[in-house]
This record gives sequence, C-alpha cells and structure tokens, in this order.
Amino acid sequence: MTRLLLIGPPGAGKGTQATILAETFGIPAISTGDIFRANVANQTELGLKVKAIMDAGEFVPDDLTNAIVADRLREADAAGGFLLDGYPRTLDQVNELDRVLAEDGTALDAVVQIVADTEEVVSRLLKRAREQGRTDDTEDVIRHRMHLYAEQTAPLIDVYQKRDLVLSVDGLGEVSVVTERIRESLASRGITA
Ligand code: ADP
Repeated sequence: MTRLLLIGPPGAGKGTQATILAETFGIPAISTGDIFRANVANQTELGLKVKAIMDAGEFVPDDLTNAIVADRLREADAAGGFLLDGYPRTLDQVNELDRVLAEDGTALDAVVQIVADTEEVVSRLLKRAREQGRTDDTEDVIRHRMHLYAEQTAPLIDVYQKRDLVLSVDGLGEVSVVTERIRESLASRGITA
C-alpha cells in the first residue's frame, strides 16, 4: 500500500512521472488537473463552473476541489494506495486531505518534490502550448500559475518536511532519468514497487 503525493511547479513533469510511477506501483494516479480538464471537455456542470477559472490560471475553489478528491479517494481502486498529482495545492487542501485519510486511519507515505528552475519550466510550458494548445498555456497565464505556486503551494513543502515526508528530486533531464531518481529516493525510504 503506497500513498504518494507529487509536488512541484507547473511544467516540472509531475503528470508524466505520475503516470509512469502509478503504473510501476499498480496504484491509480489521481490528477485534479486531468479531472477538471475532462469535465471541461465533456461540458459537465463542474466543467462549466471551472473553465474560466482554469483558463485564467486561478485555483479552483478549495471546497469544490476537496469534495472531488474526497469522492475520488473513496473509489475502490484507491483503497490499495494512490498517487496524487496537483493536489493538495493550498493549506486548506492539506488539512482536508489529512482529515479524509484519517477517517480511514491512514496517512501519506511520502511526498515527492520535483525541483525545476522557473525559466526552464516556463519554456517547457510554452513548447507544450505550441504542440498541444492547452488553453491555460499562454505566457501570461503560465507566469500567473508560477506565481500562485510560489505563493500558495511551495509553503506546503515545509509542512510536509516537518513530518519528514519530503523527498526532493531534480526534475531536469530525460524523463527516464527523473523516474529513476524518484524510484531510488523512494527506495531509500523502503518504498518499492
Ligand atoms: P499545472 O500543474 O501545469 O498548472 P494542472 O493540470 O495540475 O496543471 O492544473 C491545471 C489547472 O487546474 C490549475 O491551474 C487550476 O486551475 C486547476 N487545479 C488543478 N488542481 C487544483 C487544485 N488542487 N486546487 C485548485 N485548482 C486546481
């Protein structure tokens, strides 16, 4: 049973690594960004609510985000562990995640921090924008997402550091190299697939 969380700035490669690690560990990757984007694409009630927020690079309100994750974590496939990507992003979300896990008498096993330089991630995101056309990948919106990350999400690393859960991994380099770094640092904590 492995309960992991990936944290790092937009463009650090969390989504890519989350998919690979989830496969390796046989646990679901739960990405709030993916959940929201799927709802926007399908024009669900939730999607209609969050589209403008996402396009502006703002955070979806905590109550909405928390409810979605709590529901997702109650699905059967998450009972054997999970890997969260893009959640929690605020202190309120940390508290809510703690509460939901405590209900089951569980807690996180590790928080993997993917470290990447701001200019490097901005240029990666601009490249992704040209290739995939994500609507929140314009330069202004990217800068705003980076700002919100630094202001609201980076402080969560201290919170998890106090619990001795953080493993910092250099996010620069090839995908497979970064995956190997993550696997090694998890293994150093006795967390293996
Ligand atoms: P990135 O990490 O590249 O910014 P994500 O796919 O994780 O992208 O998120 C895309 C957007 O979805 C965010 O800019 C935000 O609007 C919304 N979002 C995702 N996760 C959360 C969250 N935990 N809290 C609030 N909003 C979120």
